[in-house]
Amino acid sequence: MIARLLSTGITPSLDFEESIRVKLINVVSLVFFTLLLFFMVLHTFYTKKYEVVFVQAGFALMVPLIYYLHHTKRYSGAKFIFFAILNLVLFIMSMFLLPGKGVENFYIGIIILVLILVSNNVWVYFLTSIVVILYIAPHVYLNPYPVENYSFITSITAIISIVLSVRFFILIQNQFKERLKIQNSRLEKLNLEKSDLMKIVAHDLKSPLTQIKGLVSILELSDNQLNQEQKLLIDKIKGVTDSQHKQITGFLDAEYFENSYEDVVLEKVLIRKIVETVLDGILAQAIAKGIRLTYIKNTKRNLTINGREVWLYKIISNLVSNAIKFSHSGTEITIEVKSTQEDVLILVKDQGLGINKEEISIIFEKNQKLSTPPTANESSSGLGLYIVKKYVNELQGRVWVESEEGKGSTFFVKIPLFSRGRA
Ligand code: ADP
Repeated sequence: MIARLLSTGITPSLDFEESIRVKLINVVSLVFFTLLLFFMVLHTFYTKKYEVVFVQAGFALMVPLIYYLHHTKRYSGAKFIFFAILNLVLFIMSMFLLPGKGVENFYIGIIILVLILVSNNVWVYFLTSIVVILYIAPHVYLNPYPVENYSFITSITAIISIVLSVRFFILIQNQFKERLKIQNSRLEKLNLEKSDLMKIVAHDLKSPLTQIKGLVSILELSDNQLNQEQKLLIDKIKGVTDSQHKQITGFLDAEYFENSYEDVVLEKVLIRKIVETVLDGILAQAIAKGIRLTYIKNTKRNLTINGREVWLYKIISNLVSNAIKFSHSGTEITIEVKSTQEDVLILVKDQGLGINKEEISIIFEKNQKLSTPPTANESSSGLGLYIVKKYVNELQGRVWVESEEGKGSTFFVKIPLFSRGRA
């Protein structure tokens, strides 16, 4: 039975914390009851101090109370406080009836254990254990009471209590950790399932859009057979599908970062190649809006970084397409690539609307659509800069912005250059 009382398993029918409490109560009751029996027998038959037996009979009342609580499985803070107060009263009584007999040592130990039972706070366990040790240690080593006052026995009792409380302190910690581990893995699994589902949905939404885009391009080929109204409608369909396509791509990119548990294999990325690919692809968009793109290459041809081509592509294309989106016709966007011994610095500078001072600090956060609206009704998801920041972090770089409202913005991306050590 003792082994069962001290076992570290959790009673399945009980809530976790409650089951720990039951264990603690069992241990306290067991220690308490054994010692009381020992003292009562000792005082009845050996010392014949019946007043001690009387007080101890009072203490013994605690045991049925604890077991009542145990069997009804009703543990409330109020009951434990009542239990603690009752114990305190008995303790004070014992001090008056049996002054200087060392009973208080034993009782302080018990009350501290009750405190441990009532509290759920790890620090209470820790601090009370320290207090008990500090309180008991001098009694063990200095033995201030005469032997007939049983101070040695009471100190041993308290030490047993400490050992048990430490044992249960460790048990609680381990079981909490175990629980957290189980819950974490469950959450991780759920999260993966959710993310897979989202990816499927997003992917399924993306495919028909790609088909629509293809069909619209075919329609555009028969340009001369279409009247003005039909051409306008086709442009609208194109605009809507493009915007939806971008939103879904942005969502998939953000999902990738939040749910990516895989180790990504890094490659050597040629910076100039990516910048030029982005600019080639986006040039038509800039021309359509009457914006001039200027590319300044202040650097060697073959500079590389450690990363993934697609990451750098997304960083630059998001910044340049934002610059176009938030600029008026007739302005200029400058893309500049500079390098130092260790880093490459990419600047995307526009003469557009600029960013409000207060909003600069939150611009890279998720879903931030700020007060600056696109100049030609373009779509805005609030994900672009969040994705830029995430990719730059993956590349162990830094991104920041300087901007003045009405005058334009410059986005800076600084990434460490390729080094063999990091390959
Ligand atoms: P989106 O462009 O899809 O709205 P982003 O995360 O790329 O999302 O940008 C967030 C917000 O930051 C934009 O809505 C806009 O208000 C502001 N912003 C981004 N780039 C610029 C820029 N070059 N000039 C002015 N404002 C910008």
